[in-house]
Amino acid sequence: MSQDYQKILMNKRKRIVLIAHDNKKKDLLEWARFNQGLLAKHSLSATGTTGALLKKELGLEVECFQSGPLGGDQQIGARITEGKIDFMIFFWDPLEPLPHDTDVKALLRIAVVWNIPVACNRASADFMISSPLMSEEYERLVPNYEGFRKR
Ligand code: PGA
Repeated sequence: MSQDYQKILMNKRKRIVLIAHDNKKKDLLEWARFNQGLLAKHSLSATGTTGALLKKELGLEVECFQSGPLGGDQQIGARITEGKIDFMIFFWDPLEPLPHDTDVKALLRIAVVWNIPVACNRASADFMISSPLMSEEYERLVPNYEGFRKR
């Protein structure tokens, strides 16, 4: 493999983070209900209100961060940077400006920096959760940022 990339191993049990803006929470809940059996095989975390809903309505085990507008997106971005999140389901609202728009942009950006799979709507989430890679180890290629650090 080229020196330009490093490999980061994603285990069979993925560390999945789930986030839904208020107008998208119903969508996420329906999606999660349909995929509950699959989701339960992985390690789940979520922003505060989304996570509370998933726990209450579906009884899933979920680690909760702060609510998005209170810094939850930034906590998740930090976790991704630390290599502690493998996969993101992020149903953001394309029709409403939000107080934490900048945080949303930053989170989407950092997910790309670290080559994290991201599903931003139900169709993408359907395709991703049904991928055979969900139940296998996967070596994620991340650009080797050494050159960037030494610039
Ligand atoms: P919430 O955060 O799950 O706490 O609502 C999501 C968001 O609005 O960013």
